[in-house]
Amino acid sequence: MDDDRNRNVNIVILGSTGSIGSSTLNVIAENSGKFSLNLLTANSNDERLLDQCKNFCPKYAYMADQAASKRLRQKIIKENLTTEVLTEEKDLHEIIASDDTELVVAAMVGVAGLDTVITSIVNGKRLLLANKESYVVAGEYLNSLADKHNATIFPLDSEHSAIHQCLAGIKNKADVSKILLTGSGGPFLHTNPDLLKNITAKEATSHPIWKMGKKISVDSSTLINKGLELIEARWLFDIEDIEIVIHPEGIIHSMVELNDNSVIAQLSTPDMKIPIAYGLGYPFRISSGSKRLDLAEQGPLNFFRPDFKKFPCLNLAKEAMECGGNAPAAINAANEEAVAAFLDNRIGYLDIYKIIASVMDKIEISVVKSIQDIYETDNSSREYAIQKIKAL
Ligand code: NDP
Ligand code: MG
Repeated sequence: MDDDRNRNVNIVILGSTGSIGSSTLNVIAENSGKFSLNLLTANSNDERLLDQCKNFCPKYAYMADQAASKRLRQKIIKENLTTEVLTEEKDLHEIIASDDTELVVAAMVGVAGLDTVITSIVNGKRLLLANKESYVVAGEYLNSLADKHNATIFPLDSEHSAIHQCLAGIKNKADVSKILLTGSGGPFLHTNPDLLKNITAKEATSHPIWKMGKKISVDSSTLINKGLELIEARWLFDIEDIEIVIHPEGIIHSMVELNDNSVIAQLSTPDMKIPIAYGLGYPFRISSGSKRLDLAEQGPLNFFRPDFKKFPCLNLAKEAMECGGNAPAAINAANEEAVAAFLDNRIGYLDIYKIIASVMDKIEISVVKSIQDIYETDNSSREYAIQKIKAL
């Protein structure tokens, strides 16, 4: 067993330049000698990826943006680094699939990550999933694929990591009566609803507790993130009774209620390095490099029910989960387009809900028979959302 604990694990990080990707590298640095890096990927931030290549010496690097990839390649040659820059998408998939890759951290944003998630699963990798969008749109399909190919889908999202930890000591799943999914409530928890229409991108991306990428910050402010997490939890744990609890301090990261009304919770300081370390080290506990929790110093913990009227996007996501089929793919695509337009100042804050609701009204809910159905719903929902955004 101790050999297992000390065994070196070879890793791919998809989206290494982002918030989760960088925190993953911090945890890896904290545990020197335990992990090697096979591949780091990003979209267009070649400067940050270059720094990561200097500090972590991955065997390969890949950038989705071709111009950025060229720049990275030139800089790597100039700096005399050993990292090889892959230019072809097929090479990216080949490295993920190769026997050298044991564990894949999916930390890219959006459904653009779905094809690399699928490659990881069909090649039986251990997949640490932060990229919730891919799983929200295709959870059932990805689960069956993971069963077939002996792959593991392991949550990095803090709530789902907490639920995983709460369930770890429960011998019989039938003893679980409910999941209590916590959320901080976002930056507008106490904002007067009349003021929401004037919210700017800067305000929506200033989360009171978590420092995250822009897209998930906006999702947290509209509470659609909690709705996506509801769907994510449903597929990860195969438990349908899930209650959302608003907990502004972000100390309890979720709970599990049992048949005898006992409730098990996981607590820590709000720092993504903790769920990342749990996922990277599992079944062992490794150092996260985060602050210890001092409850006396922390002070009171508060809990509220969510305000579905003030945050109607949460309702839409709940409805999408209940509808099933292609509905989660539609809501995700509409949300990705609406959030991108909001961040670009093309639409107002409350238009995000309007765009998603109009897409949900428009699409025909159907059963998902193949992954192609998901891609088709994603495309048509995006097209419709883009039309609506232009018409606003
Ligand atoms: P960021 O925006 O900080 O990072 C996104 C990463 O994905 C970057 O490395 C970016 O590269 C890369 N990327 C973007 N588009 C593409 C593309 N088309 N192809 C390849 N790579 C791409 O996001 P976060 O780290 O905040 O979030 C990542 C995922 O984790 C999301 O799904 C989010 O919902 C989830 N998550 C995040 C949490 C957090 O605390 N941040 C908590 C729980 C879940 P580049 O830098 O070059 O643009
Ligand atoms: Mg979360």
